[in-house]
Amino acid sequence: MEKDTNKNQNSKFEIQNDRPKILIKNIYRCLTMNDEKAELKNCDILTEGNKIKKIGKNLPDSAGTVISGIGKIALPGFVNTHHHFYQTMTRVLPKVADAKLFDWLVYLYKIWKNLTCEWVEISTKIAAGELLLSGCTTSLDHYYVYPKNGNGLLDIEIEAAAKLGLRLHATRGSMSLGKTKGGLPPDEVVQNENEILKDTERLIEKYHDDKPFSMTRIVNAPCSPFSVTKELLRESIKLARSKKILSHTHLAETIDEENFCLEKFGKTPVRYMEEVGWLGEDVLFAHCVHLSDEDIKLLGETKSAVSHCPTSNLRLGSGIAPVRKMIESGATVSIGVDGSASNDSSNMLLEIRNALLAARVKTGVTSMPVRDALWLATRGGAKALGRDDIGQLAEEKAADIVLFDIRDIAYAGAGDAAAAIVFCGRNFTASDVIVNGRILVRDKKLMILDERKVFDDAKKIFERDIAPNL
Ligand SMILES: [Zn+2]
Repeated sequence: MEKDTNKNQNSKFEIQNDRPKILIKNIYRCLTMNDEKAELKNCDILTEGNKIKKIGKNLPDSAGTVISGIGKIALPGFVNTHHHFYQTMTRVLPKVADAKLFDWLVYLYKIWKNLTCEWVEISTKIAAGELLLSGCTTSLDHYYVYPKNGNGLLDIEIEAAAKLGLRLHATRGSMSLGKTKGGLPPDEVVQNENEILKDTERLIEKYHDDKPFSMTRIVNAPCSPFSVTKELLRESIKLARSKKILSHTHLAETIDEENFCLEKFGKTPVRYMEEVGWLGEDVLFAHCVHLSDEDIKLLGETKSAVSHCPTSNLRLGSGIAPVRKMIESGATVSIGVDGSASNDSSNMLLEIRNALLAARVKTGVTSMPVRDALWLATRGGAKALGRDDIGQLAEEKAADIVLFDIRDIAYAGAGDAAAAIVFCGRNFTASDVIVNGRILVRDKKLMILDERKVFDDAKKIFERDIAPNL
């Protein structure tokens, strides 16, 4: 990987010399999410460059920028492990507001096949802005719709996210099993296996940075068992393992998918993944709602990772994932907001809240303590993405820090102030967000985007390119 290292040192996405030392002073409560799960009172955090330099009391005031932590809860930035940024432009479409997954997909494929560069760029800004405001500092994005000549679309997303400063695991998604071959998507948005694998290699070479504190990594991500061929699953995981990158796909989301796999392959989705070599620590599955006890055991034994997306699963009526059982089996469980056509918001704090509520409905009130839900969204997410440099507030870890201001009527009377950010609230917005040592949100406002302009630009594109096709 010598060549890659040199390439990445010169990457145009490395933003240098614009990170002041930041001192966050007198933080009311700090949930470090470190190995000891330490919770600190009235502490300071000092960042230097892209790392946390020091955590302690009364640190000397030598930093260029000082943020007050009075009345604020500090956490490591949330790690979102599943999204489809492009879907921010197709939220709440009336004809599928009450549809289940397969019907919803068949309708939306016809809209998504008209994706443009402009659409991808604006949707990246929307998703990144929303995620940051909710306290998310790292996101995976599963981008898998490639209309004819669409191979440059992920490049646009990567470059837009890099400019904004969000830590991104960009997936080279794909669909290779069109309708005429027994798959669900229309033939216009499927590509052949060779083209997909070649483009995946190109993207790894161009953008993948495997160093600590990396801002951009590439992930191999065929879309789902019902939209890609067995050959693509087999070949792409070989490529991913040879390049030491993560692999990602949707799995066991609905009963329809389970029936598809039982009919076509004679086995459950998880057993199908076993057959094509898709289990292990370097594999992250979105959803995993419909699993047998045997499936769960297999995920645990192979230490595979799961992105739990409760809002989307509830919204589409798919079901509730057996999260507690998966955790107990040894699988790595993380949280994802999923795409904005099925959530329809990119808010990680709300997703944490819904993960807590959904687990309690499924397996009882003690099955998801609030701090466990926060752990899934921080350490769980970091582990699922194969990282140990993010997801905790500790010296020498990434300067990805979020603050929530609880001096608000919605938190008045809260007995456990730290837990209150999940249980209480009215807009679920972080007051301050630092990513890689840069302040991207201050006083609940994005420092990197004009929110109103993004809204206006999105409206223009929606009315011109999307509304006429509805
Ligand atoms: Zn998804």
